[in-house]
Order: sequence, then structure tokens, then C-alpha cells
Amino acid sequence: MAFKKKFTPRKKFCRFCANKELPLDFKRNDILRDFITERGKIIARRITGTCAKHQRRLTVEIKRARQMALLYYTSVHSADVKRKIS
Ligand SMILES: [Zn+2]
Repeated sequence: MAFKKKFTPRKKFCRFCANKELPLDFKRNDILRDFITERGKIIARRITGTCAKHQRRLTVEIKRARQMALLYYTSVHSADVKRKIS
């Protein structure tokens, strides 16, 4: 291989299809957090491997969670990133 993969070298799959029990819900920001970057961006489908159907739902739920202040919009609101910058 041309370059080393940093993490998750296993095959990509949709986490919501693989685990039907996994709730796709704005209230579960612990799960949604896995699909956003530390800067608060939604991670692209080609990276997470989420299927089109679930990615569409996911974006809606993430946006909902942001409005409910369960997730942050930008890094300004994230304590982790704030620490790195300053
Ligand atoms: Zn799926």
C-alpha cells in the first residue's frame, strides 16, 4: 500500500444498518458525536461508510442536536479545540 492508514483499517460499513438497535436520534449526541469532526463538521459519507439513507437522517439529527445545544456548531464552542488553539 502506498501510505499507511492511520486508523480503522477494517472495511467500512453503515453503523446504523449493521446495528439495528443503534438509535439515530438527536437526543443521542454521544452517538452523533462519532459522525462529526472535533471542529463540529459532519463527516462525509465516504469516510464514515454510512449508507445514503442513514446519512440523510444523520445530518438532520445532527442539525437538530445543534439547535438543542447538544452538539456545537463550530470549534469555538468545543472545549477540546479551544484548548488546542490557545
Ligand atoms: Zn444504513
